[in-house]
Amino acid sequence: MKLYLASGNPHKAVELQALADALRAPGQGPAIEILSAAAVGGMPEVVEDTGTFVGNARKKALALRALLPEGAWALADDSGLCVAALGGAPGVESAYYAGPESNPRANLDKLVRVMESVPDGQRSAEFVCVLFLAGPNGSEKHFEGRVRGRLARLPGGSGGFGYDPLFIPEGFTATLAEVPAEVKNRVSHRANAFAACVGWLAAGG
Ligand code: IMP
Repeated sequence: MKLYLASGNPHKAVELQALADALRAPGQGPAIEILSAAAVGGMPEVVEDTGTFVGNARKKALALRALLPEGAWALADDSGLCVAALGGAPGVESAYYAGPESNPRANLDKLVRVMESVPDGQRSAEFVCVLFLAGPNGSEKHFEGRVRGRLARLPGGSGGFGYDPLFIPEGFTATLAEVPAEVKNRVSHRANAFAACVGWLAAGG
């Protein structure tokens, strides 16, 4: 089965394909191929202004769905990091935390600065991922995944992307950027949402 990814973020495409490949064992779900929006002319410009992960993911999925051949599925990912001490920020604004140009390093540096004076016991955070499917005959369905953890004081590790170097999942002592990709893909918000998505597709959609 082919899913066209409504995103220009190459990290998301790599992670989603790895997640799909990990589910290819017999009896565990359909073989899924994650196709880039470039295959149908590129991801259209979408203003992510709904204020919610679901709303933004839906906008991206429908924008790409409009370009796809009849019967094809668009898959959008809207995700972010919600920090309890910041009232849930950066949340849906995660990609633009340090400014409208969406610079991951600047976003990370800003979060380190903003959290500098927050004590160890108050550094809890969670990653949230909404995957939104827009498919044949106007069908729509979304899935949410979360992973709880806490923020380190300084970035550590070079794996993953975005805020991974600052995020230590519950039960871990290393950040998501310090563990192997297979480990991130076992526990991540995206992994949880994708498992639900694949389960739904396997059951007939
Ligand atoms: P989106 O493209 O609007 O969904 O923006 C998602 C933003 O949230 C990214 O630019 C990252 O800053 C952050 N983010 C989402 N998922 C992850 C992840 O798995 N690791 C680290 N940062 C993430």
